[in-house]
Amino acid sequence: MSNTKLSAGDAIEARCTKCRTNRKHFIIAISNEVPDKVQCDICEHQHKFKPAVTPKTLESKAAAKKEETRHKKTIVIAKNGKPCTRV
Ligand SMILES: [Zn+2]
Repeated sequence: MSNTKLSAGDAIEARCTKCRTNRKHFIIAISNEVPDKVQCDICEHQHKFKPAVTPKTLESKAAAKKEETRHKKTIVIAKNGKPCTRV
């Protein structure tokens, strides 16, 4: 089957505004074949659909905002359990 159209009730990867991270969501409402409202599978919070954000995007966004918070970034990386081996 090649039908990839989304419909209400489908699961989708999206960014949860409450969890502040990428979560599995269920689509509640669709407009123009784009998810409009979704519900987080973890906290069950209902909110507007926000595409999943990759850590890389967040990092570059933060870097563009504040360059001086480089030491703070290291702490965030350590929290995620990902070793910072960048030289
Ligand atoms: Zn959530």
